[in-house]
Amino acid sequence: MENYLVSARKYRPDTFQSVVGQRALTTTLQHAVKNNQLAHAYLFCGPRGVGKTTCARIFAKTINCLHPKENGEACNECESCRSFNEQRSYNILELDAASNNSVDDIRALTEQVRIPPVLGKYKVYIIDEVHMLSQGAFNAFLKTLEEPPSYAVFILATTEKHKIIPTILSRCQIYDFHRISVGDIQEYLQFVAQSENIAYEPEALNIIAMKADGGMRDALSVFDQVASFGEGKITYKGVIENLNILDYDYYFKLIDAVLRHETAQALLLFDQVLGLGFEGQYFTTGLSAHLRDLLVCKDPRTLPLLEVSDSIQAKYRQQAEACSFQLLVEALKLTNECSLQYNQSKNKRLLVELCLIRLCQLGEPDPDGGKGKAAPLSPVAAAPAPAKAPTAKPVAEASAGSPVQTSAPAPAPASSAPAPAPSAPASQPAAPDSAQPAPHRPASTAARRPTALSFNRPAQQAAPAPVKQEVAAPEENQPFDTPQLTQAWIDFANTIKDDPQISSAMIANPPEKTTDTDFEFVVFHPNMEKRMLEIKPQIEHYLRQQLHNSHASLQVRVSVGDEKKKALTPQDQLSAMLEKNPSFASLKNQLGLEMD
Ligand SMILES: [Zn+2]
Repeated sequence: MENYLVSARKYRPDTFQSVVGQRALTTTLQHAVKNNQLAHAYLFCGPRGVGKTTCARIFAKTINCLHPKENGEACNECESCRSFNEQRSYNILELDAASNNSVDDIRALTEQVRIPPVLGKYKVYIIDEVHMLSQGAFNAFLKTLEEPPSYAVFILATTEKHKIIPTILSRCQIYDFHRISVGDIQEYLQFVAQSENIAYEPEALNIIAMKADGGMRDALSVFDQVASFGEGKITYKGVIENLNILDYDYYFKLIDAVLRHETAQALLLFDQVLGLGFEGQYFTTGLSAHLRDLLVCKDPRTLPLLEVSDSIQAKYRQQAEACSFQLLVEALKLTNECSLQYNQSKNKRLLVELCLIRLCQLGEPDPDGGKGKAAPLSPVAAAPAPAKAPTAKPVAEASAGSPVQTSAPAPAPASSAPAPAPSAPASQPAAPDSAQPAPHRPASTAARRPTALSFNRPAQQAAPAPVKQEVAAPEENQPFDTPQLTQAWIDFANTIKDDPQISSAMIANPPEKTTDTDFEFVVFHPNMEKRMLEIKPQIEHYLRQQLHNSHASLQVRVSVGDEKKKALTPQDQLSAMLEKNPSFASLKNQLGLEMD
């Protein structure tokens, strides 16, 4: 029986062409060889296991090949090539600087540099993990690097480029190796499996590829491990057991529960996950990734960003169809919040559970929401609404958007409902409709048939219709703060989700207050500005009612330079900052700072 060779060695590429996932870089090297434009020193940087040393060896072999091919590859047949392939060439010297980093080690190497090659043209010195060299060793090496003999080529490899001193950097041609894509790794694993006659499930190889984080060597060693565990068969189940990965299935089931508003089911699933020994943080991070993948499935253009195997892709697409864009964005926000707060939380399990509960409340259909969920909220609202709202709100905001949040818009319906009920529904949709005939039926449609929008939050749904009438007449001057404004803003955005572009832009980027009553919404593009101005009357109408302030007024402008481009949800960042340092809020207000 032949000796067992690990796959990473057995399937190590021996031509530039066969190096996986570094095409641009190998092509450049090939050209350099072909045109005989060789430097004396190269620096190969990049994460571990992406092919730095492999490329260095191929390079060394190729520049020494006696009959190089037209395309700049080695012939693999001449004496020099064979000596390389059989690892008996004297023209290549490898030093692992991680374990040989003293001045003496480097001296021993530079001594060797003096001896010219016997066969072939170049002697190639590969110094791996070169950043590990001691200061003295670096200095000793620098002398050789400054005046190398004509036949010497140095290839320095490192995972930590920033640790290389500038004097060395400036003498090297630098090549940056990239992480290998999941697709490339998976394809190569398939090739290895087929060559080895190992049966495999594509999703199993996909998981290995993802877990390898861009490194082929890691991927191949996991591959070997799983193959021996499965006795020559690589299954999805085998892989997740071996790598201690949470099964996709839990996330699929969880989102199913969210869609059906089955809070109990969601909590039980989470309990099972904990029972398997997974951390809550791991779970929420995975859930965020899952939501992201669903979101990516929503648009054929972003589908390539989904890095899972075909069979699972179908599953993702199916689930994505059941979820609205809005729901996914909201859910992602919740899971992100949860992840951010995880480390600071004293009761981590409760934190995740709260997140799950809120997820299950997302998009609860309206009739249910009215009876079930909004019920506990209405008493709060019915009472002394104006006094309470401002104080209650910031708390809700700070506590990471606990369910309380919805209580802010709630006061409105309760206090105003009794009187104008009959006439309200009719007149309300009429106003925006006539004012805004063209593309933006959204707000009005939402008000007319709220049940059609399955993914709106219950509280805000109830709000618009009854409130309208009463507020329209008497002038209101209730002060409002940024969190209240943001909430009302998002509530409005939720009513126009049949215009997902506007809706999501509004949600991602709430307005900034500029005065007591004015607020400003910054957009990136004049087209967007135009569309926002079209629905401005509707927005103001809605916000004035929600905020009980008849002077609330919206300005829209296009951003200048790169302002506002940094974060997707500046509000998230702001609330995180406020949570850390509450006095920041008053400072912000005093100085009138623009925070995003
Ligand atoms: Zn050759």
